[in-house]
Amino acid sequence: MEKKNIDWASLNFTYIPTDYRYVSTYRNGVWDEGALITDPNVTISESAGALQYAQTCFEGLKVYTTSDGRIVAFRPDLNADRMIETAERLLMPVFAKERFLAALTALVKANLPYVPPYGSGATLYIRPYLFGSGPVIGVAPAPEYTFRMFCTPVGPYFKGGIKPLRLQVSSYDRAAPRGTGHIKAGLNYAMSLFAGHEAKKNGFSENLFLDAATSTFVEETGGANFIFVTKDGTVVTPKSPSILPSITRRSLMYVASEILGLKTEERPVPLKEISSFSEGGLCGTAAVISPIGSITTADGEIFLPSGMEQMGPITRKLYDTLTGIQMGTVPAPEGWIYPIA
Ligand SMILES: *Cc1c(COP(=O)(O)O)cnc(C)c1O
Repeated sequence: MEKKNIDWASLNFTYIPTDYRYVSTYRNGVWDEGALITDPNVTISESAGALQYAQTCFEGLKVYTTSDGRIVAFRPDLNADRMIETAERLLMPVFAKERFLAALTALVKANLPYVPPYGSGATLYIRPYLFGSGPVIGVAPAPEYTFRMFCTPVGPYFKGGIKPLRLQVSSYDRAAPRGTGHIKAGLNYAMSLFAGHEAKKNGFSENLFLDAATSTFVEETGGANFIFVTKDGTVVTPKSPSILPSITRRSLMYVASEILGLKTEERPVPLKEISSFSEGGLCGTAAVISPIGSITTADGEIFLPSGMEQMGPITRKLYDTLTGIQMGTVPAPEGWIYPIA
């Protein structure tokens, strides 16, 4: 298959429309059979539930070309599961896992010229989303829903590669304190934009959100989870009911304990404890794992010593192992790699 004439190495994390997208509509209690279409625009009621009451959610995953030329997705079944949980919490009809996976395969096969080649540093980012497209005016769930999936070739999320990130801690909450912080929905992103924008205006890469109830425990950033490493080499990640359960984080914790033989802990992480850690990273599909250099709080700046110039040694091992699994150069745990073409 002839590839598109794209300068893969210079891609950013931005939207480039491709030839096809997948769409299915839910009416009268059933999803229709779905189809690939070419129109990148969505036409919905001016009174759509998504627009009026934010009844909308999304997922994000990546498709890779492996070292031996296969095209694969990384754990897409977990994205399908998570979208089901989010849809239930937002009172939307669920899109079945088998249909999610079939849509993914059809979408990628229709857009093969846009799948970045192995070694280019770029990947194909997949964006499934589900929203209330039918009209509501009284506060209620919408009478009609749309599931769509598009793809776009992307480069790294944080330009400058592994240059350590500088984070800021503000007094804003990322999401409602209970019940919604663990769902992947635009409403939580909308609430995080202000703090993220302030952080960037102040010269930081991102804002670190603390728990809403006590403002003492580390939660996550607007779109990525945390992983820390203690001085004795234990990999620690915050536990909280309002953190979005990152698939990258779950995978990195498994890599740490089952492949690298490291001690791991998922537990509440007080902000005060960060100064005792030796490494820290932000993880997510987009960020993979990006090292943190410093965190600026109301009481001053905390430096993560081994992250200041480059990735710390354990962050590096986690990064190399996970990306090796995704690119087919490191053997994958059972079920992690979903073949497409
Ligand atoms: C998507 C997302 C993440 C990262 O999750 P992955 O499954 O690893 O991509 C982290 N935090 C938030 C708020 C998210 O929406």
